[in-house]
Amino acid sequence: MRLLEQRILRDGKVREGGVLKVDGFLNHQMDVELFSLLAKQWHEAFKNDNVNKILTIEASGIGLACIAAQEFGCPVLFAKKTKTKNIDGSVYTTRVESFTHGNIYDVIVAKEYLLPTDRVLLIDDFLANGAALEGLCDLVRQAGATLVGAGIAVEKCFQPGGARLRAEGLRIESLARIQSMSDDGLVFVPGDEP
Ligand code: 5GP
Repeated sequence: MRLLEQRILRDGKVREGGVLKVDGFLNHQMDVELFSLLAKQWHEAFKNDNVNKILTIEASGIGLACIAAQEFGCPVLFAKKTKTKNIDGSVYTTRVESFTHGNIYDVIVAKEYLLPTDRVLLIDDFLANGAALEGLCDLVRQAGATLVGAGIAVEKCFQPGGARLRAEGLRIESLARIQSMSDDGLVFVPGDEP
């Protein structure tokens, strides 16, 4: 999506270790008008899939997921990071390795909000090594719900997550796909639609 690519080129900052900082419009200050355009693209891609729930992960996916949910007319569920052991069986739990922080943490969703009848679209801001998305896929699997696919704002294609998850059969619609990134500049995958 050309508009998102242009915004990344204008306001994004490349940091050490393959991290793109987009705090000006995505990860800290949020450009809700831009979010709305991203949401429309995801809706266009998944409008025939009877999505009735959007699942994201705390914290930076939540804003995007809420605007996307308005397009789909459905609720948003976000996987919560937790340090407490939930032993009463009321939640699904999975482990996620954080790309940006380098630690491993548990995320949970309450069983009462993720049902076998749900048709779930995953939404997240970035796709890098794929751990966050994989964790969300695992929660959907545990619930016996149907996984429709994933809408991602920025995919870093030089990291292996996207290729691996697509090979496993996940449909992923990424709106900006970065081929390479360094201090010298940032190159998008050619041929992406306007
Ligand atoms: P993955 O689990 O695919 O390795 O990483 C995805 C998660 O890490 C996203 O939810 C996002 O919050 C964070 N992330 C990964 N790469 C970047 C990046 O380059 N910039 C920012 N701001 N977040 C990233």
